Amino acid sequence: MSLRILITGGAGFLGSNLCDRLLAEGHEVICMDNLFTGRKVNIEHLLQNPKFEFVRHDVVDPFKVEVDQIYNLACPASPPHYQYNAIKTIKTSVMGMINCLGLAKRLNARVFQASTSEVYGDPEVHPQTEDYWGHVNPIGIRSCYDEGKRCAETLCFDYHRQNGVYVRIVRIFNTYGPRMHPNDGRVVSNFIVQALKGEDITIYGDGNQTRSFCYVDDLIEGFVRLMNQDETTGPINIGNPGEFTMLELAENVIDLTGTSSEIVHEDLPADDPKQRKPDITLAKKYLNNWEPQVPLREGLEKTIEYFAQTLDIDR
Ligand code: NAD
Ligand code: UDP
Repeated sequence: MSLRILITGGAGFLGSNLCDRLLAEGHEVICMDNLFTGRKVNIEHLLQNPKFEFVRHDVVDPFKVEVDQIYNLACPASPPHYQYNAIKTIKTSVMGMINCLGLAKRLNARVFQASTSEVYGDPEVHPQTEDYWGHVNPIGIRSCYDEGKRCAETLCFDYHRQNGVYVRIVRIFNTYGPRMHPNDGRVVSNFIVQALKGEDITIYGDGNQTRSFCYVDDLIEGFVRLMNQDETTGPINIGNPGEFTMLELAENVIDLTGTSSEIVHEDLPADDPKQRKPDITLAKKYLNNWEPQVPLREGLEKTIEYFAQTLDIDR
């Protein structure tokens, strides 16, 4: 069945990949974005598609559209971007969520919230399971993002309990791939761009902190399965359980690009989580045995290819 679907933050890294996927399935897609960190180039190839519509709008301001499903992705995701205007970030998460849920309530539509592993903060439980309540600093420089996303989850559950709104919540662990912003400051894009340009590779701290990196296609598959199943509201972790230190990530990028870049160490930012790895038992259980298919090196190769093309660097 062809549905009409709103994607907030649809011109961003994940949003534009989701637009592609839903259009390929034959749905109509309305992409709403204020282009803060998203880019028109991410959706340029879709502008002539009669089933695609771009609306430049800020989710903090109320909106009305007639749709069957809403994927709420609007929010800057990289620490330098979400810290650039912290008040705006928390407004985007909270007021954007209220606007999506209010619209869904009126339309009897289903809402999908892009939450984050950051709701676990600097976790004391490892790997992180969905029933862990987290270890989050409420007043630090990451709080505008972490607490905004935690409040958005609360709103989803309150609208669900109080008004019967259909909600689906995913907790996304670090995801990478084509259409990441080259200057967004996240570790995968930073290392690849630095390696391709022959610049120093900047490891913050000693590089022994860990993250788990999921390739974008695997994540989007999980999104669509979660939205369209009827057994759980979530929250469900989606990510790749492979766990790597930042030193290991840098070594992989150096090896795959063949760069002569050197590793340099810079100060570790405040409240930087020491470890992160999803427990994906629930995703497997509810999402038809979902698990990541793309190993880190294969995903890095595709991402390196993308950045080399975008930055016009011969390899
Ligand atoms: P991104 O920065 O590329 O995309 C976010 C999009 O939201 C951008 O297009 C931006 O312009 C738009 N946006 C921001 N504020 C807005 C506002 N007020 N009104 C309308 N549009 C607005 O980041 P991404 O990696 O694609 O992240 C998408 C979503 O997934 C975010 O909600 C993020 O918190 C969540 N997430 C991503 C990751 C990841 O690893 N990529 C991890 C956890 C959670
Ligand atoms: N990081 C790094 N060098 C960089 C950018 C990030 O060592 O150039 C580290 C950062 O300190 C963190 C990890 O890489 O420990 C992941 O950072 P990112 O900003 O990608 O995501 P998040 O911290 O939100 O997981």
